[in-house]
Amino acid sequence: MQSATNSELAQRFPDLHPALDARAAAVEANRCLNCFDAPCMGACPAHIDVPRFIAMIASDNVAGSAKTILDANVLGASCARACPVEALCEGACVLHGKRERPVEIGRLQRFAMETFYDAGGRLALRRREERSERVACIGAGPASLACAAELRQQGFQVCVIDRRALPGGLNTYGVAEYKLRAADSLREVEMVRGLGVQFEIRDVDATALEEIECASDAVFLGLGLGAMRRLDVEGAESVGERMIDALEFIAAYKTGTPMRVGPRVIVTGAGNTAMDAARAAKRLGAERVTVLYRRQREEIPAFDFEYERALGEGVEFVWATQPTAIAQRGDGIALTCVAVAQDATGKLTQIADSEFTIECDAAISAIGQSPLLELLSQVRGVAMERGRVAINRATGQTANPKYFAGGDCVNGGREVVDAVADGKRAALGIAAWLSKTRAEEDASDNAGIPRSAQDKTGMRGAMRG
Ligand code: SF4
Repeated sequence: MQSATNSELAQRFPDLHPALDARAAAVEANRCLNCFDAPCMGACPAHIDVPRFIAMIASDNVAGSAKTILDANVLGASCARACPVEALCEGACVLHGKRERPVEIGRLQRFAMETFYDAGGRLALRRREERSERVACIGAGPASLACAAELRQQGFQVCVIDRRALPGGLNTYGVAEYKLRAADSLREVEMVRGLGVQFEIRDVDATALEEIECASDAVFLGLGLGAMRRLDVEGAESVGERMIDALEFIAAYKTGTPMRVGPRVIVTGAGNTAMDAARAAKRLGAERVTVLYRRQREEIPAFDFEYERALGEGVEFVWATQPTAIAQRGDGIALTCVAVAQDATGKLTQIADSEFTIECDAAISAIGQSPLLELLSQVRGVAMERGRVAINRATGQTANPKYFAGGDCVNGGREVVDAVADGKRAALGIAAWLSKTRAEEDASDNAGIPRSAQDKTGMRGAMRG
């Protein structure tokens, strides 16, 4: 399991939902009732005009369908694969009320986008008039890509900055391979680059942030979240690489170098990332994969369908259990656990004398990501609320007017499509703010007020304390 070719990965991680061919897409598109006030559209965070793009597939206008999707969601191809459509658009389809299966909106969207790109389709610039203002988008995940694309569409000069070698954020590194391949994410990044967005690889620390701010008229924080929280148990430092961060594990196999996990794997946590990691461990050869969760089945953060899929692939679950210690044992590790009771308020207590040990070869930690608080604390004036960046909900603007934010660092970690919606909203907020600022500066120029006195608008030097 040391390395894997693309064809090996494709074998181990076949598409969750196989692609529709043109005939099947036409048949499926004709099932849509083209509802007025369509609930599927309301359930889509990006508000894609679902009945319109489906009707275009039915009338064999696939390019028009793709452009309809892209008008609302520049990452329409990624979202077609990564969105939990069961909980969003397809979950809202009126056909449920007629006791029929919902229209397969996700697969139709994928058909439109992939047919369009495979035929050489590209994102088209809506306007050619260039604006001189520069915007830096920090982080190269879905929120920043959506923000950057919309700002370029409005003529602004945009640079996306990220420390990782490949852009795309979680789409490239963190969404399970059977949902979204890294190559598909990178193709979409190239579409955004084709609009004239610049990409820069650089570590963003306090010094870099200061430089970026000085060189930019506005900054978008699309940082996402940090690493998975480490399992805080006795002995955690002693087992070295056998304790694995779930996101690093997924990123490693997606980029062709799966980590060695051995035949017995324990996954702690029961969110969607935990389900992805557990299923990936199975597909990469682990014989027995067990998910430990401190609460009961009904309370898992993962979507039901993600849990059912993991169960269907042979992943085992142990409820109401908490690890308390970990230690090396022979070639593997031993995880000491206790049973946990929950009272009516949801408070957990360890049950006395319930200790037991599970032996495994690797323990994957998927107990949630930590916010990048250290970096965010370097940005003067950006207020935080419960570990998240606080913003104006209508514009994405933070308490420091030069900074806008969106995606996981604001919403705590939701879907790709939520990040896209956040990024686009912030782009509109940035465009409005920069236009207002320019109009004020022009008005001051006309009144004969020197530029140095205009810097009190917050456009310059608002960075660190
Ligand atoms: S709710 Fe279902 S049937 Fe109605 S427009 Fe949306 S996809 Fe079509």
